[in-house]
Amino acid sequence: MRGLLIGRFQPFHKGHLYVIGKIAEEVDEIIIGIGSAQKSHCPDNPFTAGERLMMIKKSLIGVNFSKNYYIIPINDVNNNSLWVSHVRSLTPPFSKVYSGNPLVKRLFKEAGKEVATPPLFNRKEFSGTEIRRRILSGESWEELVPEAVVKVIGEVKGRDRIEELAIGDR
Ligand code: NAD
Repeated sequence: MRGLLIGRFQPFHKGHLYVIGKIAEEVDEIIIGIGSAQKSHCPDNPFTAGERLMMIKKSLIGVNFSKNYYIIPINDVNNNSLWVSHVRSLTPPFSKVYSGNPLVKRLFKEAGKEVATPPLFNRKEFSGTEIRRRILSGESWEELVPEAVVKVIGEVKGRDRIEELAIGDR
């Protein structure tokens, strides 16, 4: 059985890693869709799809993740009722969708897909919004993401990017 998890992963954090581990207990293969792939360089979506792909791939290597997986960037479409077909046109076939996002769950349910809500893991801290806030305010954030993500954010000078984007926004 193949399962799909879609997220923005801005950035990929330990909550995402935990949820992938949980899904892996149930599926033979996992498809990880990088949502809003076209977005980057803005305060809520600072990282490109390619940078997020590196974060996910290197984090999974870092934990010796043994299930087969596919990482697929997926652009948004300007029409929610067409989005599920759009996702299906880009991914290997899947029979179950894992998401905590109400819109994602609703759209896949209406399309007849089985949908499961994985348990949240320390959502207060393991949250992209919280991690971006901490990066911007100079607080410690590194413990909230896998080691590989700290390295990718360092490599692409993500902290400078987030700071400069925030200045430009004022
Ligand atoms: P996200 O990165 O916030 O979360 C991804 C998943 O990770 C969630 O479903 C959640 O279950 C899980 N998660 C997050 N924090 C966790 C934690 N602490 N513990 C355990 N699990 C945790 O991404 P998202 O907002 O759900 O991404 C949905 C994507 O789908 C977006 O890119 C959105 O634009 C896209 N989308 C697009 C359309 C369209 O184009 N019309 C329609 C619907 C959705």
